[in-house]
Amino acid sequence: MGLIQIKQAVRRLSLVQLRRLDEWLHELILKAEESARAERIPTRKQIVEERTVENRTYRLEGVRCGKDKCKCARGKLHGPYWYSYTRIKDKVKSQYVGRKLPREVEKELGKRGKS
Ligand SMILES: [Zn+2]
Repeated sequence: MGLIQIKQAVRRLSLVQLRRLDEWLHELILKAEESARAERIPTRKQIVEERTVENRTYRLEGVRCGKDKCKCARGKLHGPYWYSYTRIKDKVKSQYVGRKLPREVEKELGKRGKS
């Protein structure tokens, strides 16, 4: 169904129904905004390399710890370390991997060639 048909259907609703729809839409928008925020990579990370296998993305990231006096504040980031990002339904789960990718992951990525 397109937006035009939805609008036509909404016009036929009663005031009570419209209020309920409004409430429901509000909740829906909040949830969508929340998951969009979770997906965004914080600016304190710098992506060096990114490789994807199936539904998982591996990212090599330089990390800023946030301390003002640290070397990373002047652009010398920590790491880089590998992190894996897995999408489960509409959520993205991130996990620390380490300085190197596990051998089996390297193998899997190698099969598909460099991306
Ligand atoms: Zn630091």
